[in-house]
Amino acid sequence: MLSLKILYIIFLIMTPLSYSYLSYKSVIASAVVIIPAIIFICGIDPLNAFLAAVVFAAFQSGAIAAKDIIDEERRDLEYELDAEENKKGGLLEKLGALEAEEREIKEDELMIVNLFEITRKMSANLKFIDIFNVFSAFLKGNFSFTKCDLLTLNREDIKNPRLEKIYSVWQETSPGVSKQITNYDKLIKNFLHDPRKIHASKSSGEKVMEDMGVEDPDVKTFTAVPLLSDNVLAAILTVEDLPTEELEKFLILSMQFALEIKKVLLYETVEKLAITDSLTGLYLRRYFYERLDEELQRSRRYKFEFAFLMIDIDDFKKANDTYGHLVGDVILKELGRLIKEGVREIDLVSRYGGEEFAIVLPETSREGAMLVAERLRKKIAGHLFRAYDETLNITVSIGVSIYPEDSDDADNLIEKADIAMYNAKKMGKNVVCKYKA
Ligand code: GH3
Ligand code: MG
Ligand code: MG
Repeated sequence: MLSLKILYIIFLIMTPLSYSYLSYKSVIASAVVIIPAIIFICGIDPLNAFLAAVVFAAFQSGAIAAKDIIDEERRDLEYELDAEENKKGGLLEKLGALEAEEREIKEDELMIVNLFEITRKMSANLKFIDIFNVFSAFLKGNFSFTKCDLLTLNREDIKNPRLEKIYSVWQETSPGVSKQITNYDKLIKNFLHDPRKIHASKSSGEKVMEDMGVEDPDVKTFTAVPLLSDNVLAAILTVEDLPTEELEKFLILSMQFALEIKKVLLYETVEKLAITDSLTGLYLRRYFYERLDEELQRSRRYKFEFAFLMIDIDDFKKANDTYGHLVGDVILKELGRLIKEGVREIDLVSRYGGEEFAIVLPETSREGAMLVAERLRKKIAGHLFRAYDETLNITVSIGVSIYPEDSDDADNLIEKADIAMYNAKKMGKNVVCKYKA
């Protein structure tokens, strides 16, 4: 009986121990192999041993069933955990995307604030160069690029605009700062043909880059934006090595810049209208007088001399009476062109009165001024004026005064040139006369 009890105890201990690794096979094995061995070793009564084996098997089966349930529950839990993990992963991804979106929104917001600021700064300026300076500072601070050029065009001949000026800005870190090898004439021709912006990269559009006149092999991307004013090509912005992801931002900026350029062009037109005579395109007397004063100050400071020429058409009243005022106007216009053509770019030419023209020749001596005046007189006298169906000759009389020799006062210089001009008239017209005290 004692041995049976010991056996029970062994079974009771074995059952929970065997829980983690026993299976139904091991139950059968223990019933068939282990138990008869124990019976044999311990000399236990077979009936008692049978009962013990049944109890053992019952315990084992119970343990295995419990283990199965627990395993299944564990699997369920593991499955649920996996699902939760996946869900968590998905949520983290979403969170990442939201954070990226937020960053983008913040960047856009900053960009809008910056754009507003640059627009405000640009619109505070009325000079082309000042606006470009604001623009280029913004470009340097907000974009990655190597070089940006602003090409301004001379629009006198709308169909065939010429490159007028190039304003360049380099990102400090860029190598090859002195390079300027884009064929801009080719670029202008292309935009006249098709005024759409271009963004080409070496990898995808080498041909486009070539067509646009990009000849620098180091340029990886090339962006060119035409700036139109009243549908006429007014300027072109080009950027080298602008990353594609910054293109949209750049286009917004260039649109803003185009508006500012339009404003400047309008301002320049109005300014030009305010200071130039509509018939001849020469300076009006009031503006000329301001410039004369500036020249006088400058000459005084640097101890230069300058010449003042007063030109009056001879017998113009007669020409008007004979051919009519319309013909007279054509002559005035043509004469203005001849005079402008006959002097240097730095000389100031104005339509001083109805048929009187005044010229300031900076840094010019009396001898130099007499040569210029004589050359002009001859040029005009030898010119055949064509107006409507008429062809006629006209002559001019020219009076010359010199700063500071004749006077160091603007009004006085004009007066003295006028006196010299009337002396020329008295001498028989078509004459150049210098002022004599
Ligand atoms: P002089 O040789 O002495 O200068 O004789 P002039 O006939 O030229 O006389 P004056 O210099 O006084 O010229 C004035 C004339 O110039 C009057 C007018 O017929 C003409 N004139 C002035 N302004 C204009 C203009 O805007 N258009 C036209 N067609 N004629 C003008
Ligand atoms: Mg006159
Ligand atoms: Mg006259």
